[in-house]
This record gives sequence, C-alpha cells and structure tokens, in this order.
Amino acid sequence: MPIARTELEDLLQREFRPDGRVLSVYLNVDQSQAANLNRGFTAALKARLRSIEQQLDGEKLRREFAEDSQRVMQAVASYQPQGRALALFCDASDGFFWQRDLKVGVETEVRWDERPYLRPLIEAMDEHERYGVVLVSREQARLFTIMLREIEERREISSENKIKHIKSPGNESARSQANIQRKDEEHAQHHMKEVVAELEEIAARRPFDRLVLAGPHEVTREFQALLPKRLQQLVVASLPLPMEATEHEILAEMQRVEGDIERAAESAMVERMITQAAKGAQAVVGAGPVLEALRMGRIMRLLYAHGRTIAGRQCTNCGTLFEGGGVTPCQYCGGNTREIPDVISRAAERVVYSGGLVENVRGPAAARLEAAGGIGAFLRF
Ligand SMILES: [Zn+2]
Repeated sequence: MPIARTELEDLLQREFRPDGRVLSVYLNVDQSQAANLNRGFTAALKARLRSIEQQLDGEKLRREFAEDSQRVMQAVASYQPQGRALALFCDASDGFFWQRDLKVGVETEVRWDERPYLRPLIEAMDEHERYGVVLVSREQARLFTIMLREIEERREISSENKIKHIKSPGNESARSQANIQRKDEEHAQHHMKEVVAELEEIAARRPFDRLVLAGPHEVTREFQALLPKRLQQLVVASLPLPMEATEHEILAEMQRVEGDIERAAESAMVERMITQAAKGAQAVVGAGPVLEALRMGRIMRLLYAHGRTIAGRQCTNCGTLFEGGGVTPCQYCGGNTREIPDVISRAAERVVYSGGLVENVRGPAAARLEAAGGIGAFLRF
C-alpha cells in the first residue's frame, strides 16, 4: 500500500520537546541488492548509529541516544524485509515509535534531531501516481487502475448487442449494406459511452492522476473525444496494445512509458510555475518568496529539485523559517533563530500538514527549476 497522508499525522503533529530527540531511520533493505542479503542492512544501520554516537557530547545525550538506538535495533533484529526500504522513528523518552515498510527505494540515512526527519518519507508519498488505463476497441473494453506497478482494479466491458458480420452472398443491396454500417456505428457509439460511464464511476471511487488509452489509434482518438473535459485533461499517452494483451504485458508497457510521462509532466508543471511567477499570478520561485508564502499559509503545491538542500534558520519561538545563516533574531517575533541544514524538509512537512502537495522533480525539470532557485510553489490565493 502507498503511504497515506493520514499515516503521517502522528509524525507531523509531534510537538517539539526540548529534552526529547527523535531517532529517524531510513534503511535500504532491498533484497535485490547483494549488500542487503543475509541481513546486511543490520550492519549498515549499526555503523550509522555508531557514527552519530561518536559525535555526541555529554553523558545525558549519550544515554538518551543509547535508549533510542536499542529500541530501533530491537525492531530491526526481528524484521523481515517486505518492501525496498524501512522507515523507523523513535523517541524512547516518551515511548514514541513509528515503523513502516516502503515500496520505493530510499537510501539509508539516520538522523537524531529534535524533530522527525520526514523529507524522504514525503518524497516516497509523491513518487508514484495512480494511472487509469483503458484498453478499448469498438466492441470491447478493459479498464484498470495501476499504482506502484500493480493493478489495483480491473473491469471488462463487452458490447452486448454485438453486430454479427454475416458475409453477404453477393445479392445484398447497397442500401442494406449502408444500414448495417449505420447500425454498427450506433452500437460502437453506445458501447464507448458505456465505457466512459464506467470510467467516470471508477474515477469517482479511486481517483487517478493520469489516464492512458490503449488500442487502435483511430478508436482511442474517438474515445478521447467522448470523455468529459476533466478526464480528457488527464490523458497522457495512447499505446498501441492489442485487446488480448496480458496483464503482464500491460504493466511492462506502462513501466516503459511511465518515466517519460512523469518527466514530461514535471517539466510542463515547472514551466507553468515559472511563467505564472513572472506574472505574479499565484506562483512564486526562489527560497525567499517560497518561505514567505509558507508563513502566510498560501502554498498549494511545493516543487523543488531532487536532492537540493537550502540552508537556513528557524525561529525557536514562532517556528518561522528563513533562508540563509547568521544569528539574526526573528523579524516577526524577535525570538532567537537557530541554524538548520535544510529548510526544504521543514517546508515540505508544513505543506503536507496543511493539506498541500509536494513534488520532488528530477531530470530536465529539476535543471530548469535549479536555474530559478531550486524551489517554487503554486499558491492558494
Ligand atoms: Zn519568530
């Protein structure tokens, strides 16, 4: 199962505790990688924990850290890899513990800080979109929703009043030929409208982000024209798959095109954001304007370049995030600010918490976004 926003609530809502630090662990357990076989991931985790421990000053911190790491090591010792990565958060001082398998690959990373480190988890949420797939001909249709390279739902529709094409013995009049063709056309139209209705029903129950049509090109084109505008806008590809394609073949074809589709969609989104920002039309780019929009609760969708970090400060009193270093007091409440290595992680948490979306873009879209400051946002108002 993909991660739902509601699952993150315990982590996002976790109050800042001056004396409690949280151990955040992302562990690559992918069993297709040799280093992870025979529980190799346990050794990797131990090494990371030891390196944090060596940097700690004072008996009290070391004791707290030891409690958190023992709890995590206990969980990992009895853990059987289910997905490609494991996420764990622990603060033994108040019994806080959260564990989840991840189906997407995440690099091993361990942090011990005042707040849970959520950026990789938020990125794992965004990584996979749900696809609707309609394989359609003039008599049949197969509908699927696909997420994380698995078929979630499948439907088949076959035109009930299928016209039988009887070979005419040669004496059939031109008029009845035309009649058969017209009837054929009516049935095909009726069938395709049924498929549209079925697709709308699925979209209402299990909303998908993108729609792929498959089948003969002239049929998919005709079908697309019958879709309501909202669904038409979701169409990202037409694939020439035969009606009898196996589910394995459908998934393989989807996997082949998915990367290109995602990258193209990201590029288009970044381009639109930069254009809107230049016009001052409900979008901003660059760390300063983005953090200001965040403070005002205006962000609807946050975009940033994959792997990008932006150093900054956070007010210890009101929590406001600022770009850049230094010891300047908070310009809003006069409170002390402390340096944090990455404001993007905190910004992403707040956007998710407020019901907004976070997109971690890669490839050409990321390069384009880097040139505009590496971060941007679409605004609610
Ligand atoms: Zn402040």
